[in-house]
Amino acid sequence: MTSYDVIVVGLGGMGSATVRYLAARGVRVLGLERFQPAHDRGSSHGDSRITRQSYFEDPAYVPLLLRAYELWQEAEKDSGADLLTLTGGLYLGPPESTTFAGSLRAAQEWDLPHEVLDAAAVRARFPTFSPAEDEVAVFEERAGFVRPERTVATHLDLAARDGADLRFGRQVVSWDANGTGVRVRTADGEHTAGSLVISPGAWAPSLLAGLGLPLRVERLVQYWFAPPGGTEPYERQPVYVAEQAGGAQIYGFPAIDGPEGGVKVAFFRRGRDTDPDALDRVVTDAEVDEMRARVADTLPGLVGPVVKTVPCMYTTTPDEHFVIATHPEHENVTIACGFSGHGFKFVPVVGEVLADLATTGTTSHPIALFDARRFA
Ligand SMILES: Cc1cc2nc3c(=O)[nH]c(=O)nc-3n(C[C@H](O)[C@H](O)[C@H](O)COP(=O)(O)OP(=O)(O)OC[C@H]3O[C@@H](n4cnc5c(N)ncnc54)[C@H](O)[C@@H]3O)c2cc1C
Repeated sequence: MTSYDVIVVGLGGMGSATVRYLAARGVRVLGLERFQPAHDRGSSHGDSRITRQSYFEDPAYVPLLLRAYELWQEAEKDSGADLLTLTGGLYLGPPESTTFAGSLRAAQEWDLPHEVLDAAAVRARFPTFSPAEDEVAVFEERAGFVRPERTVATHLDLAARDGADLRFGRQVVSWDANGTGVRVRTADGEHTAGSLVISPGAWAPSLLAGLGLPLRVERLVQYWFAPPGGTEPYERQPVYVAEQAGGAQIYGFPAIDGPEGGVKVAFFRRGRDTDPDALDRVVTDAEVDEMRARVADTLPGLVGPVVKTVPCMYTTTPDEHFVIATHPEHENVTIACGFSGHGFKFVPVVGEVLADLATTGTTSHPIALFDARRFA
């Protein structure tokens, strides 16, 4: 039996980056994934993910984002793939909203280049938006979008190029660890290694059941609208997060896939609970109507026919911060889950952190916020 230094379970967003950074360091790594590369059954599909730096969730994420940007660019160079596109980002809401006030706080704390715009300035500069009179926005140039499926596929290719053993259609059914190593079982056999990384996305509640993490798996829908006046004005708009009084946030993208591709928009949070093995792919008229009504407030010209809807899953913690840590009971097991709907923009830096933890037990990146023991 081949012997490995590290086994990575789950090769979605986080796991694919982890095998890439492990293999690049010459670590003998086995990656096991239950579905196919860059599949659409988990959390890392739907053509685009926002990336931004003035992070309203908590300024503690900013150094990780700065590093993630460096690593996206490095992955583009190493692979020749186009992964990250900067479009600028607009964070719009009432002055006291999390979206506006939180973004401003992070920008100021980290001295990130940004501008503050009132409603009239937003309308003048970004005519697809129609903010309410009392709304304000932070605009930052260094925001944009990344391509999730292409990122996963690229990380897997780079890992394979560096010798990683990657196996698909292999569902891990159980694992255990002791002081000398780890053991992982799939339907067709057993694998052993010195250490284990578990990055299972929405399947964390089952693969990490012993930890009793308070995770909620939620279904969220991505919508693509065809604006009646054509996509052209939307090709130049920035990515955005827009919050209304009461807290509901939507976010969206420019038109990035040509005139027929539609313009993507979604609710941030407000998902409904789902079993990850029974994700409902049917999007109802009532769901579309709710999205349409919300879009009409912020981007009235966008409200046309819906050309595509794609459900996806969030795995959410009570404080909406990630879990990235050494397993509290096994020092040779590293866990990464609970990305709470905002993890993709961190994919390469999380890969780097997990590679650090799996090989050295520690990392120089700031991950104190993501401690698995904080819910105890
Ligand atoms: C609708 C939507 C919009 C989003 N928008 C953004 C955004 O704009 N910006 C942003 O930063 N983030 C966004 N996110 C969040 C981000 O996409 C996720 O945080 C991220 O993709 C999570 O990656 P992951 O590796 O944890 O999960 P996944 O990519 O799902 O990977 C987990 C993998 O583990 C595999 N697996 C599970 N169990 C087993 C097993 N037993 N054996 C083998 N393999 C297994 C799964 O098949 C899967 O491939 C969004 C998410 C959704 C759903």
